[in-house]
Amino acid sequence: MIASHNPGKIREIDALLGPLGVTVVSAGDLGLPEPEETGATFAANAEIKARAAADGSGLPALADDSGLAVAALGGDPGIFSARWAGPDKDFAVAMRRVEDALAGEPDRRAHFVCALALCWPDGPCEIFEGAVHGRLIWPPRGSRGFGYDPMFVPEDHDITFAEMDPAHKHRISHRADAFRKLVDGCFKA
Ligand code: IMP
Repeated sequence: MIASHNPGKIREIDALLGPLGVTVVSAGDLGLPEPEETGATFAANAEIKARAAADGSGLPALADDSGLAVAALGGDPGIFSARWAGPDKDFAVAMRRVEDALAGEPDRRAHFVCALALCWPDGPCEIFEGAVHGRLIWPPRGSRGFGYDPMFVPEDHDITFAEMDPAHKHRISHRADAFRKLVDGCFKA
C-alpha cells in the first residue's frame, strides 16, 4: 500500500512496482487519514507516513518524503520544502525565497533528497535514501517538472530539471536513486 494521497506519486510508484509483480493500493483508496509530519529528517517523516499506513491497513506500506537541500543554507528548505511554498503551494514564491536567502552567496550547490520507508504491519521499517546533486540558477528556466525543478541544474548537465525530457529526469532523479536501492534491497534474490 502506498502511504500517499498524491495521485501523481501513486501513478509513478505503480509504474515502478507493477513490473515486479506488486499490486498497489493507496492510503486515499482505503480512506486512511494523513498523519502529521513531525519528524526532523526526510527518513523520519517517511517512516511516520508508512508506519501509520501499515498499522491502519494491515498491509506492507511504502511512503516517500523528499525535498531540496541547499548547502549554503545549512540544508534548508529541506523537510520544509513543500511548506516554503505557502498555503497556495506557489513554487515561484518558494524559489524566490531560496534565491533571497542566498543573497549573492557564490556557493550555489544543492541536492534533492528522497527517503523511502517500507514498513510491515507489526514489523520493522526499512529506509532507502536517494539523492541527486547539482547547482541552483537564477532566474528559473523551463516549464516541465514541478516544485523547485526550474532552478535546479543537475551535475554534468547545463539545463534545469524543468527543461529536461521528463523520462531523463526520472532516470537520474533522487527518487530514481532511492527506488533502485529499494528494488535492489527487496525485490532481487
Ligand atoms: P513531500 O511531498 O512532502 O515529500 O514534499 C516534497 C516537496 O519537495 C515538493 O513539494 C517539492 O517542493 C520538493 N521536491 C521534491 N522532489 C522534487 C523534484 O523532483 N523536483 C522539484 N521539487 C521537488
